[in-house]
Amino acid sequence: MTQFIVVGAGIIGTSIAYRLAEAGHAVTIVERHHPGAGTSGASFAWTNSNEKTPYGYHLINVLGMRAHRALENEFGARPWYHGGGAVEWKTNPAEAAELAERVERLKGWNYPAEWIDPRDLRTLEPALAAGASGDAPIAYFPDEGWVDPTVYVEFFLQKARALGAVLRRETVTGLVLRGTSVTGIRTASGKTIEADVVVNCTGRWANDLGQEARLSFPLAPTLGLLVVTVPAASGVRRVIRTTGVNFRPDGAGRVMLQSEHDESKFTLESRPEEIRPAAEAMIARAARLYPDLAGTAAEAMRLSLRAIPGDGVSAVGPLPGIDGYYAAVTHSGVTLAPWLGQVVAAELGGGAPETALEDFRPARFF
Ligand SMILES: Cc1cc2nc3c(=O)[nH]c(=O)nc-3n(C[C@H](O)[C@H](O)[C@H](O)COP(=O)(O)OP(=O)(O)OC[C@H]3O[C@@H](n4cnc5c(N)ncnc54)[C@H](O)[C@@H]3O)c2cc1C
Repeated sequence: MTQFIVVGAGIIGTSIAYRLAEAGHAVTIVERHHPGAGTSGASFAWTNSNEKTPYGYHLINVLGMRAHRALENEFGARPWYHGGGAVEWKTNPAEAAELAERVERLKGWNYPAEWIDPRDLRTLEPALAAGASGDAPIAYFPDEGWVDPTVYVEFFLQKARALGAVLRRETVTGLVLRGTSVTGIRTASGKTIEADVVVNCTGRWANDLGQEARLSFPLAPTLGLLVVTVPAASGVRRVIRTTGVNFRPDGAGRVMLQSEHDESKFTLESRPEEIRPAAEAMIARAARLYPDLAGTAAEAMRLSLRAIPGDGVSAVGPLPGIDGYYAAVTHSGVTLAPWLGQVVAAELGGGAPETALEDFRPARFF
């Protein structure tokens, strides 16, 4: 039986840990905070392969979406998943042109993408203000959805535990490296925990584990701001993407909003009082489309960094010249998690390398 340490109990770590435990391996998950405390707990969590290029990256995200669907058959239910597709229209001409180009590209890749008229949009979203989309073409992506990442993390963590996996609440301070082999981890409490393979699933903190150049690779994190409203009967039913703001339901009547334009103004150190005007402006923009959102307050404003490897796509695989060490670090991790869980566990269990991951190996950085 191979002994694995999975560092990080986010959506990627718990997916991989569960599949390793399912395959009969001994798994210790090491997490410094509560499970889901990292980026997975501060994600827009839209399952999609919508703006993903090049084609290979689009493909693995499609495989992620498919793997999300398959979980329903496997477990009988997937309470973390919310379907209904996503709708998008852009009133700014440059953005509208990009959307038109994207829809054609996605259709060419056989990705479900269609144009709908304002009446269809009102059927999908009855609470939308009349004429909200103006004369902008409206795109509909029926296979997309969104996830409650924490509900997902809890489910797979409990499943992994039921198969013997253990969660240890420790901060990993470094890897134990003997020659060219990683043989375990060191923790802040002074312990050394040995394993045959250490799987780094710490997302944006991935380079904190391997202080040496041969154990790390470039990351290019960007800051994200998510605003969550107080519960409000706004009628928002699915992922809505428009000029200036994207939003979706976030459970119990809350709406989660995100805006690339607004988030670029902040840093992780920004204080709530600095962010609040931008949060209120985002809600006001959405309320022009959904009048019942008007006057809704921001209950939470979450700043987090996207876990993005240096060239923008995933980094999944062993590090060259190092045995016993594997990294799985990616943006779009909510979409990719169930597929990565399966294929990474299969590779780590001695299976053939997954061909769809060929372009995404950390070795490209060395
Ligand atoms: C604003 C925003 C919007 C996003 N929107 C989407 C989206 O719409 N769709 C999508 O698919 N993806 C989206 N993402 C990306 C997605 O959320 C991430 O790719 C995913 O959550 C990464 O999961 P993870 O498990 O790799 O990392 P994390 O969830 O960050 O988990 C890593 C864990 O490692 C732990 N850890 C770190 N260092 C140590 C250490 N030294 N010792 C012990 N434990 C440690 C952390 O506490 C954390 O719990 C978004 C991200 C952001 C920030």
